[in-house]
Amino acid sequence: MDLNYTAEDTAFREEVRQWFSENLPTEALTTLDDRRAWHRKLYEAGFIGMGWPKEYGGAERRPMEQAIVGEEMARVNAPAGVGGLGISIVGPTIIHHGTEEQKQRFVKNILTGEEIWCQLYSEPNSGSDLASLACRADIDGDEFVINGQKIWTSGAHHSDWGLMLTRTDRNASKHQGISCMLVDMKTPGVEVRPLKQISGSSEFSEVFFDDVHVSADNLIGELNTGWQIAQTTLGYERGGNTLSRATRLKEQFARLLEVAQHEREDGTRAIADPLIRQRLGAIYSDVEVLRYSSLRILTRLEKGQRPGPEASIAKLHYSELDKRVQEIILDILGPYGQQLEGLPAWAKLGASGIPIGEEDSGSWAYPFVWSRAGTIYAGSSEIQKNILGERVLGLPKEVRADRMPAAAPTKAAAGD
Ligand SMILES: Cc1cc2nc3c(=O)[nH]c(=O)nc-3n(C[C@H](O)[C@H](O)[C@H](O)COP(=O)(O)OP(=O)(O)OC[C@H]3O[C@@H](n4cnc5c(N)ncnc54)[C@H](O)[C@@H]3O)c2cc1C
Repeated sequence: MDLNYTAEDTAFREEVRQWFSENLPTEALTTLDDRRAWHRKLYEAGFIGMGWPKEYGGAERRPMEQAIVGEEMARVNAPAGVGGLGISIVGPTIIHHGTEEQKQRFVKNILTGEEIWCQLYSEPNSGSDLASLACRADIDGDEFVINGQKIWTSGAHHSDWGLMLTRTDRNASKHQGISCMLVDMKTPGVEVRPLKQISGSSEFSEVFFDDVHVSADNLIGELNTGWQIAQTTLGYERGGNTLSRATRLKEQFARLLEVAQHEREDGTRAIADPLIRQRLGAIYSDVEVLRYSSLRILTRLEKGQRPGPEASIAKLHYSELDKRVQEIILDILGPYGQQLEGLPAWAKLGASGIPIGEEDSGSWAYPFVWSRAGTIYAGSSEIQKNILGERVLGLPKEVRADRMPAAAPTKAAAGD
């Protein structure tokens, strides 16, 4: 593995850095329209769908170039575009498994941010055990009729379309009777009910389906092959761009150092405490480990290898690290770490970047509460460990409690 950037990569980084210094918004993007306009600008600069085929509007850039853009965006705290799930999950799924008509109809609009997508997979009783999902799509002529409920659907309230898993064969084994389809969120019978989170925002929703008619043309791949399709989708979600995550944590660390050096009302500075310095040192080295393991993933991608079960290593590592880092930050900052609003400018997390709307009040507590979510979405840490054990290390399959043979009755239970 060569950890040096080529001259070409360095020149590309300069170009990207220049672009952001000239185009970074100077004011908060408070409305969806603001964010769509920013997304469009990113797309026109060639920074959205960078690895996608040119024939569908992508830029066919190398993984290293995508990582450089991700890093530069993290460095200046640039707002993300709209429809992250469309870019990270739906687009790649349609490109890999969709018909030519579906690619022509949907892919470009995902790239430009004209249509925003959500992922309709989880259900109240099917999260980790996704294959047990019950929301059903019955075939009726050249249509499906969907009935049931989804939950935790990120961005459902402003999505135009959803990538959905439904049960299309109730007699087949649970993995074999699932199909993947594209659902227009404005179809009659679709009801979106936003959920309030611990952070105060409502980023995800419950979605109810009551006799929702969907054309058979919106099926992705073959009928009842939805499980296999979902596996590629989840691989992308877990692979993610871990290098930019490391850069964001590094930027956050730089800001934490500034705050720790600030002279407080009582004339003391947090940095003067040797125990705090020790903890800062631990954060720094943890983030560096994340950066190096991200470079290892990038090396695999550069060689043309696709994210597989190994993506679980990255997902487990960064989400658990983020949680640990946010906990230490809050310990170091004391009450300032817990305030959601009203922080003095010197203590704000966002003070060196730009505000990104309501969720970015400069509060350190916001990334703290968000870090809890990272170890749940896209498969919880326990599930990543199961995948790593079984599919990477080749260990025996887990024995689930509900599938264990019934225990023989003890003497006491038998009434002896
Ligand atoms: C921020 C956020 C955004 C999300 N966005 C979306 C979205 O857009 N679309 C979507 O479809 N879903 C989304 N989800 C849902 C997410 O995929 C599920 O929450 C996740 O798969 C876990 O399922 P669950 O919540 O039903 O928990 P459960 O599956 O009920 O798990 C509960 C606990 O039991 C543990 N557990 C379960 N099974 C095992 C096992 N076999 N071995 C060991 N431990 C186990 C889990 O690790 C967890 O700690 C989102 C979740 C979050 C937090």
